[in-house]
Amino acid sequence: MEKRKITFSPPDITEREIAEVVDTLRSGWITTGPKTKKFENEIAEYCGTKKSVALNSATAAMELALRLFDIGEGDEVITSAYTYTASASVIYHCGAKIILADTKKGEFNIDPKEIEKLITPRTKAIIPVDIAGLPADYTEIFEVVEKKRNIFNAKKGTYQEKLGRILVLADSAHSFGSTYKGKKIGSVADITSFSFHAIKNLTTAEGGALTWNLPENFDNEEIYKKLMLLALHGQNKDALAKLKAGAWKYDIVMPGYKCNMTDIMASIGLVQLQRYDGEILKKKEELVSYYEKYLGDLTDKIELPIFKDDIKESCKHLYMIRLKNQDEEKRNEVIATLGENDIATNVHFQPLPLLTAYKRLGFKIEDYPNAYNQYKNEISLPLHDFLTEDDIKYICDSLVKSL
Ligand SMILES: *Cc1c(COP(=O)(O)O)cnc(C)c1O
Repeated sequence: MEKRKITFSPPDITEREIAEVVDTLRSGWITTGPKTKKFENEIAEYCGTKKSVALNSATAAMELALRLFDIGEGDEVITSAYTYTASASVIYHCGAKIILADTKKGEFNIDPKEIEKLITPRTKAIIPVDIAGLPADYTEIFEVVEKKRNIFNAKKGTYQEKLGRILVLADSAHSFGSTYKGKKIGSVADITSFSFHAIKNLTTAEGGALTWNLPENFDNEEIYKKLMLLALHGQNKDALAKLKAGAWKYDIVMPGYKCNMTDIMASIGLVQLQRYDGEILKKKEELVSYYEKYLGDLTDKIELPIFKDDIKESCKHLYMIRLKNQDEEKRNEVIATLGENDIATNVHFQPLPLLTAYKRLGFKIEDYPNAYNQYKNEISLPLHDFLTEDDIKYICDSLVKSL
């Protein structure tokens, strides 16, 4: 086959997103305003939640969720050893202690049994990660949380007390559009954080959002207002409200943060959302079927990703394969050979204990054998919206030759 150049994840931006951005640029309002509010409403509708808050990243979104629950010094938060740094760094930023749990054996997602072993009276939140779009085991995670309700130690007068148990904050950076027991991700965990970074399934260049599904004793309007305050300096009026003639006066009710979404970003998101199910997810499905067609007979050598079972369905964010019975060295060789053929691949993820910052915090990869085994022979193949069947065939042929 003739040589091709295959990039890993170029953004899928059409003339429609461009026109919507131009419309915003010409509108006289470019920061948080009507388009951001519209985007928030549409995210909530898509996820089947009452409300959502759009922010400038998933990282900021997760930190705000921890802050909303007054999680900080003296507290512990459990996340997966198998994730991107953001799931753990937000815990650190809040002043809480990062606790890493291993994955299930043979899987990329966090093991609820490991979570159970790590819970102490200081545990305030769990951050499961829906790797590649496949939802974590939320039923089992909520069962563990219920089981440990009796040792939960809430800070008085906070949302922790109102909840009365450990908070489940999903890092769903990969899983916008995925489902769990028929429910859209966003309405499964207590709070869900999404990323709209340039390489994610749905993008606003940079961006993120929070949705929540908290018990009935929580007031959704109040949560929305608190998140707005946290996201914009603790200021009781946003820029649009202040713009009204004569309405200059505002108050700062807390020293807040600065992580609001702009209407420019939201314009991209509004169009991406319109295209999401019918174009973007459909395209991913088609590409996955080509991978299955060309790699399906090689399952003695390659473990293909799982996108669906009785409980979950993935939005197919990443195509993560594993080379059976191979080590890190062989995997790296295969990636280099594919690189020589101009095929860009990736590894998702280096478990956090392999990285300098987390080694310095005292984490050791030996304590996370399942995460290491998942990582050592993993390759993420390209799954972006511009690929054709011939591209996938070229990728698969090159892969087979390099084994
Ligand atoms: C991309 C990613 C994030 C961070 O998203 P940002 O919007 O860039 O902050 C967090 N967690 C995981 C698993 C990710 O892949």
